[in-house]
Amino acid sequence: MSCYHLKVNSFNGCSIFIYEREMIMKNKAFSVSLTKNPSVSMNVIPGHFTTSHFHANHFLDLDDLKTNSTVARDVAMELALPYLANTLVDTIVCMEGTEVIGAYMAEELLREGISVINSGREIHVVTPISNVNRKLTFQSNKQELISNRNIIVLVSSISSGITLNSALECLSYYGGKIVGVSALFNADSIEYDREIHSMFTNKDIPNYQLFTLNECPMCKEGRKLDAIIVHDGYIKI
Ligand SMILES: [Zn+2]
Repeated sequence: MSCYHLKVNSFNGCSIFIYEREMIMKNKAFSVSLTKNPSVSMNVIPGHFTTSHFHANHFLDLDDLKTNSTVARDVAMELALPYLANTLVDTIVCMEGTEVIGAYMAEELLREGISVINSGREIHVVTPISNVNRKLTFQSNKQELISNRNIIVLVSSISSGITLNSALECLSYYGGKIVGVSALFNADSIEYDREIHSMFTNKDIPNYQLFTLNECPMCKEGRKLDAIIVHDGYIKI
């Protein structure tokens, strides 16, 4: 299959170049697992990546954690732990494709004999939408699940903090009470006044670094970008 792919592009030197660069990127990839549950792991690809706000020297592939139902359940059990004993939860607000994990997290928090405080109650799992001005909002019929409710915010990764901040701003606007913030990955590059419960952090990835667009040393060395990070995935350049 790989050879076929290379042959198809053999009339176009540029395509071969991109293909080879992607192969090199993937060859350098490694995975980071949770010590107590190695089935929960993320793939890490070193390289030169950009988002609209920063450059990074690693791409974190969190997709399997969010879309593989067996793994997502394990992730949810892990993320539910800090809330089991004494955090009342009404709603889990899922950002960046974390809905499957959010649903399993609700199940875990409601399970009799596991959660002391939430069993026998109802937990809703919702996701905001973007309005015409690209601001996060909730449809009128969903706002009652936010207003004056105890809310866990679940995000995929916290790097520049923009996604989390816009979620918190939106929830504050609708009068939600934030009782917890959970993330699959926290780059720990932003100061928050509340604890963030994350499964992985920058300390799990050797030499993980984020740079502002003007201060990226890879750009200064003239190194080409490998890919653009978009919605937690990447598009190779
Ligand atoms: Zn750069």
